[in-house]
Amino acid sequence: MKYFLNNSILKFPWYNLPFNTQFSHIAIHYTMPMQERSSIVVEEYLQVIYSLISENQIVKSIHLANRLKTSPSTVHATLSRLQRDKLIIVGKKKEITLTKKGVKVAEDLTRRHRLVETFLCDKLGISWHEVHKHAHILEHGLTDLVEEKLAEFMDFPKSCPHGTPLPGEKDTLPKDLITLDKVPIGKEVKIIIIYESLEESVDLMKFFQDKGIKPGKKHSILEKTDVTKTMLLQSESSAATISYEIASQIGVSVI
Ligand SMILES: [Zn+2]
Ligand SMILES: [Zn+2]
Repeated sequence: MKYFLNNSILKFPWYNLPFNTQFSHIAIHYTMPMQERSSIVVEEYLQVIYSLISENQIVKSIHLANRLKTSPSTVHATLSRLQRDKLIIVGKKKEITLTKKGVKVAEDLTRRHRLVETFLCDKLGISWHEVHKHAHILEHGLTDLVEEKLAEFMDFPKSCPHGTPLPGEKDTLPKDLITLDKVPIGKEVKIIIIYESLEESVDLMKFFQDKGIKPGKKHSILEKTDVTKTMLLQSESSAATISYEIASQIGVSVI
């Protein structure tokens, strides 16, 4: 089967796929022509780089290999291509930043991703913990007009269902935002953001959903145990132990 048409993701015959098909990116890449595959891969890389930079992380190729679950040699080859196309800059210490052109592509895709997540969660009733993986597939097929109409239909949301602002809406975050691992014992916090890196794990997101660790929910810090690097949270309805590492990717306001 070949799909040598422009915008082929829109024309991809989804209805031909078996009922239990996992809509992984691999499946899409495998069945699409080279030109389309490249553009999706490029968008994915730029989006991940953008997301990590937004989370104040230094981005190096190893981080991309981990996040994209691919080999360092594949990452290296793709980064060379992105550099050639003037979408990224690789610094002396191998840290990666986006050029103006790279930011534009990343922001466009990121806006679509977060809009689609909101639509799937708020209008289609798909679970909060799994909208990310569906949005990851749909985001590449949205035309400018559909994106515009979707934003209008959703009344111009400022953030995704996990609290991450749409590009250009960072000012909507509270000024006193800190990461949960920094909060001392005895304090109560309101969850503001679950960082996008955590969205990749559906099991972890399901745990958050079950424990009410979601934007807008309140939790008290009952214990912090340095030796195990874990903290105990208590909300009105449940208790949860999480690691400092996970807590460092949750943005909160102390109440
Ligand atoms: Zn997401
Ligand atoms: Zn999200």
